[in-house]
Amino acid sequence: MSLRIAIIGGGVAGVNITRQLISHHGSHDGWKIDIYDTEEKMGRGKPYMDDNEHLLLNIPTDEMRITDDGDFTDWLKARSLPVHDYNPRKHFGAYSLDLFRGLTASNEGVRPIFGEVTDIIYDAEEASYRVDTDTSSEKYDLVFLAMGQMGYADPYGLEGMEKFVHDPYPVKARLQDADGKIGILGTGLSAIDCVRYLLLERGKDRVHLFSRSGDMPSVRGKSHQFEIRHFTEEALDALMEDDLIPLEAVVTLFRREMAAQNIEESLFYRHSGNTLEDLKYDIANSGQVGKLQYLIIALNPLFSRVFPYFSKKDKEIFMEEIHPYIDKNHSPMPAEVAEQLVEWADAGRIKIIDDISEVRSDGDFTVRTDDASYGIDWLINATGPEKDITKEGSPVIANMLDRMLIAPGSLGGILVDRRHRVISPRYGTLNGIYAIGHLTFDSDYLSNTVRILVENINRMVDGAMEDLDK
Ligand SMILES: Cc1cc2nc3c(=O)[nH]c(=O)nc-3n(C[C@H](O)[C@H](O)[C@H](O)COP(=O)(O)OP(=O)(O)OC[C@H]3O[C@@H](n4cnc5c(N)ncnc54)[C@H](O)[C@@H]3O)c2cc1C
Repeated sequence: MSLRIAIIGGGVAGVNITRQLISHHGSHDGWKIDIYDTEEKMGRGKPYMDDNEHLLLNIPTDEMRITDDGDFTDWLKARSLPVHDYNPRKHFGAYSLDLFRGLTASNEGVRPIFGEVTDIIYDAEEASYRVDTDTSSEKYDLVFLAMGQMGYADPYGLEGMEKFVHDPYPVKARLQDADGKIGILGTGLSAIDCVRYLLLERGKDRVHLFSRSGDMPSVRGKSHQFEIRHFTEEALDALMEDDLIPLEAVVTLFRREMAAQNIEESLFYRHSGNTLEDLKYDIANSGQVGKLQYLIIALNPLFSRVFPYFSKKDKEIFMEEIHPYIDKNHSPMPAEVAEQLVEWADAGRIKIIDDISEVRSDGDFTVRTDDASYGIDWLINATGPEKDITKEGSPVIANMLDRMLIAPGSLGGILVDRRHRVISPRYGTLNGIYAIGHLTFDSDYLSNTVRILVENINRMVDGAMEDLDK
């Protein structure tokens, strides 16, 4: 059967959809697989672009892998590149690109198309999808949406102002002119990237980091291996009632697992909200903190699988009351990065200001807390991506939303079913269009690390191939 397939987005997700499709290729002749992305991101995706070397992985180098046969560390060694505990993210991008180029070189019919997709139009009679860019328009039988994070949020309405950097990536281009008094909005992993570039690469004396709620990630503690006793797939399956799994029962199971592993629940509440003190606490208590983090990381695939079985109400309760504690411990920063931040803070090179209440601009910028005010020349937005697709500015999302091909999920992203098929308000659940990654935030809980993303992609593509063979 000949088949025309489009993959929108050539990041880790797009590359792995391609790999998994090719593994099914033997049973289908005359396939055409087109992958759409811009030239700088094709094969790499946004986090792993060819950017500054001080932007590090937040997962240890030896835990990063795409394939089962030979991993990232082997790839680095084969190219005489150093293997650090946390390598520059651009190295992982080069590894992913290398893999992607191998796929296009050895598989006729796999073709990168450089350009941004602006619209996708469904033809219900033909059951086909037209994919448009500014310079092309092609029809497909099967479409995979793998577009990663949406554009950056703009919580203070500053986009377009001079000396305001709305999206800091690639930092080597976007932050190269930042000068004078520099402020960064946000204290997450992207803010840390900006600080490292400005202090280590550009040699700036000082930057201000502004946060609304002291929301810096935790510091990665010592690694732990667990033998899971209670929070198992079988135990979770046994909780199923009327096709739902009650949140309360999942929490009870998780508490039992923590008790069995000797992990104090109070560790979840260890942070005071004072960013600097919290960093110091995690560095000083890396044994206990690591145990909690590695338990969460070990259980992450199961959390992700259970999440779609929560009722709407349970999802809301989970996101409001439990997610902030899981999130804080789920993507911790490397200890060496945290230690350097503390050193810079103690030396006065970074000033962390929590609880900001207002950001204003009249030429320069003013950031206020209840009792202080800071004048800033260059302001960098590191508050992270928009989750609500109705606020997203990219044409393809706006157009698909407008023609009711996609609909917003209640927690962000778009609605998909458990097989990752897009649920359209106009056409119902569609067989030929799938979505994964940040876009499916509403269904895939914390599934965005490379490891879990690849597992979910393999399942999604296998399901799509089964649907096709029916
Ligand atoms: C700063 C940062 C650091 C991270 N570090 C790690 C880490 O160390 N380890 C880890 O496991 N995970 C890490 N992650 C998580 C990361 O999100 C995933 O590892 C992975 O990159 C997600 O891949 P993706 O393909 O879904 O998204 P992306 O990598 O964002 O790729 C999506 C691609 O789609 C393209 N695209 C979007 N819209 C269109 C369009 N309209 N037309 C064509 N193309 C389009 C984009 O250009 C992009 O290249 C990090 C995330 C961030 C943001």
